[in-house]
Amino acid sequence: MALCTGERKTNQLQCYGTLYKCKQCGHEGCMQNKEDACSNQGFSVLERCLKCGATGQMEKLPNDERAPRKTPEFI
Ligand SMILES: [Zn+2]
Ligand SMILES: [Zn+2]
Repeated sequence: MALCTGERKTNQLQCYGTLYKCKQCGHEGCMQNKEDACSNQGFSVLERCLKCGATGQMEKLPNDERAPRKTPEFI
């Protein structure tokens, strides 16, 4: 899976969180326990997209560097 390259607000270290994508608006980012915890945060802990507000519409981003072939989603 792809890893977040954002910066954690607490210690300025790279986030390395799992990246997700919103099926509603296409927004990408990691999920954090607190809002605004990472500079590249995309979702709250309740699986709510911080951009469009959709809940439960997130899917894991595949790691393109390690897996060039797209994995089809049947869910
Ligand atoms: Zn992050
Ligand atoms: Zn969204």
